[in-house]
Amino acid sequence: MAKDPVCGMEVEPSQTQYKAVYKGEIYYFCSLACKKAFEKDPEYYLTHGPTGMPHEHGHGEEHGGHHMHGHMHGGGHSHHCC
Ligand SMILES: [Zn+2]
Repeated sequence: MAKDPVCGMEVEPSQTQYKAVYKGEIYYFCSLACKKAFEKDPEYYLTHGPTGMPHEHGHGEEHGGHHMHGHMHGGGHSHHCC
């Protein structure tokens, strides 16, 4: 198992077509979005570690309850990744 450095998800190298080589290391990704995010700024992800999905903005909003963030199951727009 390899780890997607962008979202932190475990990726099976033989199962993914998304990979990139950076400084002699091979990195695997769960999706094209993660691969592109990594290629755009590899140092950021290697320095900061996985940040979650590219458009994720944390869990802090849940208890505010001002809009429907709790109902992401079943077809949210962020489904492109993982
Ligand atoms: Zn990913």
